Amino acid sequence: MEHVNPGGLGSPPASISVGQEIYALAERLFPFCRSITGDGVRRTLDILSGHIDLERHEVPTGTQVLDWTVPREWNIRSASITGPDGQTVVDFADSNLHIVNYSVPFMGILPLNELKAHIHTLPEQPQVIPYRTCYYTPTWGFCMAYDRVAKMPDGLYRVEIDAELKDGSLTYGEYLHCGQTDREFLLSAHICHPSLANDNCSGLALLATLAKSLRARKTRYSYRFLFAPGTIGSIAWLSRNEDRTHLIDHGLVLSCVGDAGSPAYKRSRRGDAFIDRAMAHVLGREAGAKLMDFSPYGYDERQYCSPGFNLPVGMFQRSVHGTFPEYHTSADNLDFIKPEYLEDSFRILTDVIDIVEDDWTPLSLCPKGEPQLGRRGLYAALGGQASSGATSMSLLWVLNLADGQHSLLSMAERSGLPFRELAAAARLLSDHGLLATAS
Ligand code: ZN
Repeated sequence: MEHVNPGGLGSPPASISVGQEIYALAERLFPFCRSITGDGVRRTLDILSGHIDLERHEVPTGTQVLDWTVPREWNIRSASITGPDGQTVVDFADSNLHIVNYSVPFMGILPLNELKAHIHTLPEQPQVIPYRTCYYTPTWGFCMAYDRVAKMPDGLYRVEIDAELKDGSLTYGEYLHCGQTDREFLLSAHICHPSLANDNCSGLALLATLAKSLRARKTRYSYRFLFAPGTIGSIAWLSRNEDRTHLIDHGLVLSCVGDAGSPAYKRSRRGDAFIDRAMAHVLGREAGAKLMDFSPYGYDERQYCSPGFNLPVGMFQRSVHGTFPEYHTSADNLDFIKPEYLEDSFRILTDVIDIVEDDWTPLSLCPKGEPQLGRRGLYAALGGQASSGATSMSLLWVLNLADGQHSLLSMAERSGLPFRELAAAARLLSDHGLLATAS
C-alpha cells in the first residue's frame, strides 16, 4: 500500500488572503498612465477583465453628457526635459506623475525662468512629485521634486512632450452581478488617476475582488460595479442610464481604501438612506472610525448626489482624501497601502452587503408576554452564545421589537447589538414559528 507523505510531494502553496489578492491586483494596475480618456484606462480594464466579465463602453469625443462634452482622447508616449549639459533632468519613463496629465504636445528650447512657469513642485514636501492635471485647459507642464528643481542651473533646456490629443473616446467598464430582483446596489470607483496606489488602485482592485467574490453568492439585490473616470465618467454613465437610476436603492463610491487610516464614511446627500444607516452601524463598531455628513466636495458621489438624481450613494474611504501628506503625490505608492488594510476594507463592505441582503421586518406571533422559550428548546440560547450565533440578549431584543415596525437594522440601532447576532436570533425564532414577516 502506498502512502503519500502529506508534505513530501510538494505542499500546495499556502492560500493567500483576500487582502493579499487585492494588493496583488493593485500592484498590477499601478504602473499604467491613466487619465480621463486613453489607453491607460483600457489597459487597466484589460487587467480587471481577467478577474470579472467586464462590459466595456466607449463614448465618442464630442458626445454631450448632461452639461458636459466628452473631450478629445489623450495619449502620451514620452516626455522629458534635457538640461544645458545634455543630461536628462526629468523623464516620464521614470514616473508618469512627472507630466501634467493631459499636457498638449510640445517641443521647444526654453530658458530656465520660462521653463519654471511650467514646473510644479511641493516646497513643503521637497522630495516628492506632485500629481497635477490640465484636462480642460490646453497647456503643458511637468511635476518634479522641489529639491531637484532647486539644483537646475541657469541655461537653455530642451522640452519634448510626445503626446496626442485626438478625436477618440472616453472608456469605462461595468459589471453587473444579477440578483433575484432588479433593485440595485451601485459600487463605483474612479479609474482616471495614473500611478497612485491608494487613490485609486486600491478602490479598483477592491471592487474587482468583491465583484468576483459575489459570483458564488445568490443575492436579493443586483450589484452594479462601475469603473469610470472621475467626474466626466460618472456623468457619462448617468447621462446614458438616466432611465435606470430609479432602480438604485443603495450605493457607495470607493477611494483610498488601502492605507493605515481608520475607516471613514461620508453620508449620502439624503443623510438617512439605508446605506447611511448600514455604514454607520458597521463603522460604529470600528475603533477610530469617522462618520461625516455629506458635502459637495470629494469624488463621484457629487454626481450621484446632484439634486436631479439625489441617489442614496455615500462614500467609503480610509484616510480622508486631501488630509494625508501622501495624497496626490508620488508618496502614494505601493508602500503606502497594505494587504491588511485592504482586507479590513473588504470585510467592512461585505458586512454592509450582509445587512442589505439580510434585513427584514419580523412580526411576533406570540406578542403578549414573552413566549416560553424552554418548551421550545430555546432556553439554552439564553445562557449565552448558542450554535446558531444568536445570543440571549439578541433573542430578547428581537422578540421585544418584533412589532412589525422594526427591521433588523432598526433593532441593531436600538439595541446596540451587532446586526449579525440579531439576524441569527430572528432566523432561530422564525424556525420555531415565533416570527412571521411583517407585510
Ligand atoms: Zn484623487
